[in-house]
Amino acid sequence: MTQRHRSNNFLTETLEGLEDKNLLRGLRQVDGPQAARIKLNGREVLNFCSNNYLGLANDSRLKQAAIEAIEQEGFGSGASRLVCGNMRSHQRLEEKLAQFKGTESAVTFSAGYMANLGIISSLFGRGDIIFSDRLNHASIIDGILLSQAESKRYPHADMDSLEVMLKNSSGFKRKAIITDSVFSMDGDCAPLRAIVALAQKYECLVMIDEAHALGVFGPRGEGLAHHLGLQDKIDIQMGTLSKAAGSFGAYCCGSKQLISFLVNKVRSFIYTTALPPLVAAASLRAIEIIEKEENWRKTLLANADYVKKYLKDLGFDTMNSASPIIPILVKDSQTALEFSQRLLEEGIFVSAIRPPTVPVNTSRLRLTVMATHTREDLDYLLGRMKKIGKELCLF
Ligand SMILES: *Cc1c(COP(=O)(O)O)cnc(C)c1O
Repeated sequence: MTQRHRSNNFLTETLEGLEDKNLLRGLRQVDGPQAARIKLNGREVLNFCSNNYLGLANDSRLKQAAIEAIEQEGFGSGASRLVCGNMRSHQRLEEKLAQFKGTESAVTFSAGYMANLGIISSLFGRGDIIFSDRLNHASIIDGILLSQAESKRYPHADMDSLEVMLKNSSGFKRKAIITDSVFSMDGDCAPLRAIVALAQKYECLVMIDEAHALGVFGPRGEGLAHHLGLQDKIDIQMGTLSKAAGSFGAYCCGSKQLISFLVNKVRSFIYTTALPPLVAAASLRAIEIIEKEENWRKTLLANADYVKKYLKDLGFDTMNSASPIIPILVKDSQTALEFSQRLLEEGIFVSAIRPPTVPVNTSRLRLTVMATHTREDLDYLLGRMKKIGKELCLF
């Protein structure tokens, strides 16, 4: 058999395997900007699956900031940050992030995925041990793999298990606990207080990923660490600018030394072209808006509470959601898919999350609310969920 035949067989087998299990996915096209209502495959639907929690992805002020940056700095950045790609907009964004988060310094990355891959694999290596929540984001898992450090995954948010693991791990050079602050599929929050206490007791570094907490929690939208007053006890504060900030890219905030280390050592920072400056300019504007306009955050959390309360009263299982990410546990993956399809027929876009993204028999709808959903939008959603949920015998 030729190489090409072998490779074709592999592709066919893999794709057919996915299709047989009803897990083959395709891309759907959105026309026009991201918002509470979007045009999906040519038809307007209510959008309940975006991470654009505050509606900033199409905010006129972000667009204006990007336009001004294009006019002053052009489009592309031309090189990596350490060569000649470090432009004024990158610099200003990092100064703002450090001030906003109250850290000595900050550095940005081209994406959250690249940030986690690079930060974790540059800071840790053979002889180190990393304790990681079992539900951490894929980019954290991949970063740990790449680091070649010993990896211990503790059951989700289970502090007793984490402590047992910490007790039984002597002989390593360095230890770290890494966790999402808000979990992307369950919408619950990490027990950060307990994690910080254990880290102090067992002399571990702490790294958190605030992807779903920036702009959502904290007195000025800084994230969950600030919400709990723990920011000074967390060594590595990573987050993304692609969710509530409505832009693109990621950051790490911390001490001057840490940031200088990352700039010198992170391969996904060094060997990649800097973000286009307009993206950094839009991110900066987003942080300024998040900092000043608390009303959006309040509306977002009120919308989330409203939806959750209604669904719980009906008898749906929204797991431990404490954020605008609301899972609705269906368990069976075929039923989750059918629920999502029936909602789409009614003009409501909510994604069904199935294995391998979540464990077997925990298939769910993953509903995310936005600050820009109106009460009518939410009531329409809830009315349809009640009707379809009843027909599918989900409560
Ligand atoms: C989305 C996400 C990332 C990846 O960020 P991108 O900027 O989209 O690459 C990393 N961590 C968590 C927890 C996320 O939810």
